[in-house]
Amino acid sequence: MRYISTRGQSGSLTFSDVLLEGLAPDGGLYVPEEYPQLTWQDVLKMRTWSYNEIAVHVLKMFIGSDIDDITLRRIVWTSYDPRVFGSFDITPIQPIANGVGLLKLSNGPTLAFKDIALQLLANLMDHVLCERDEYLNIVGATSGDTGSAAEEAVRRRSRLRIFMLSPWGRMTPFQQMQMYRIRDPAVFNLVPDGNFDDCQAAVKLINADTAFKERYSIGAVNSINWARIVAQVVYYVYGYSRVVAHSGELLTVSVPSGNFGNALAAYVAGKMGLRMNILVATNDNDVLTEYFHTGTYRVRTGAEVTQTQSPSMDIASASNFERFMFDLVGRDSAQLRALWCELAQTGSFTWGYRNDPDSAITIRSGTASDAEVTKTITLVFDQYGIIIDPHTAVAAKVFFDQKTMGPALIAETAQPAKFEEAIKRALGIRMLIPQSCRHLLQNEERITRINQTDPAAIAYEMKELIEAVVD
Ligand SMILES: *Cc1c(COP(=O)(O)O)cnc(C)c1O
Repeated sequence: MRYISTRGQSGSLTFSDVLLEGLAPDGGLYVPEEYPQLTWQDVLKMRTWSYNEIAVHVLKMFIGSDIDDITLRRIVWTSYDPRVFGSFDITPIQPIANGVGLLKLSNGPTLAFKDIALQLLANLMDHVLCERDEYLNIVGATSGDTGSAAEEAVRRRSRLRIFMLSPWGRMTPFQQMQMYRIRDPAVFNLVPDGNFDDCQAAVKLINADTAFKERYSIGAVNSINWARIVAQVVYYVYGYSRVVAHSGELLTVSVPSGNFGNALAAYVAGKMGLRMNILVATNDNDVLTEYFHTGTYRVRTGAEVTQTQSPSMDIASASNFERFMFDLVGRDSAQLRALWCELAQTGSFTWGYRNDPDSAITIRSGTASDAEVTKTITLVFDQYGIIIDPHTAVAAKVFFDQKTMGPALIAETAQPAKFEEAIKRALGIRMLIPQSCRHLLQNEERITRINQTDPAAIAYEMKELIEAVVD
């Protein structure tokens, strides 16, 4: 299995190379040369397999001979430890109504679905780095969930360190606890004054310093890493095997979307041969819904991004969208480059998407406002006795609006306990800190404060710390 860049001006690479590389040198994203295929008979056979068995099988189709079977099996079981995730199902399905279930993706260590991708990513990276006798220092910025999921994933990995910037006083107490109280010698929290954009600008400055980057093996675990997508394809294959009873039946999945990683994974499962009806659900930052309704993809300016109750979906552009467009333009990279050139110059492009009745995949899209999210949380609790978080509520609202038939899964991407305010607003209930996170309260906060707001000054102090730790 080899990987090519969507922009068509970089050479093809193996899975291991793509894993460590991130963005392609030509600025494009890596995609497989072709999608491996699964038949419905293959998937029906998986009905009795455990999640991890399915994971090994699906991952192998994308990794090829790069990693041997025994190693891959060990990596999967380390990443998805049933004792951590609470069951052998890893992403269990909770039935809520006739034929409709919640696909629970948030049972990992940080109680959000980012764990599924990042736990695997860190273990795969650790393995490849070990084989090459290399180390990687991950540098990133976070305003919320990605930070803790990445830090939890790097914990106890021998070849990885992580240096994470987060804006002082801007995250929820729960998120601060999850990041700042992690006790691990490889985890460094740097907390400057200023906002998330300043943090992100500082990371960009560090990445622009190629000499520093090389000397200190600086890398990232950003949302465009192909391995993260593959990890997410697994739970759609798993979901299909569990709820689809007949040959080639259509499965509806409703996916709360921001950077389009999760929905893209459902699309890839469709490209592999499963019949998927994908509902791309957005909050008021509706870049994707606008695209699927009008054919125009328009990125937002920073000032246009609104803060919602589902902050992990508050995006200005959908970073994985390029992979989808690459297929849509018939994998013509010259055409894709022209569209992205137009995007850079004008902030938008138009290239319509139409559902093809002969295709295994249909895509629809919808938006839920903050008020609708609150209403949906109340409705789901009243009707089914289940508390869902505001991200999941976006997907639930869009699903209820569509009135689809047949088996359906709503992707649950975070646990409600992480969003105390939203739950209190909808239900008047105060959520407690879940048992699995209580141990963190016993740890001291471990952060390095940076009393700066200027990105250049933040980057300077971050580099000093990295030098001190690495040398
Ligand atoms: C990241 C995230 C999303 C959005 O997923 P994408 O892959 O970026 O579309 C939705 N919900 C939660 C809780 C998240 O953390």
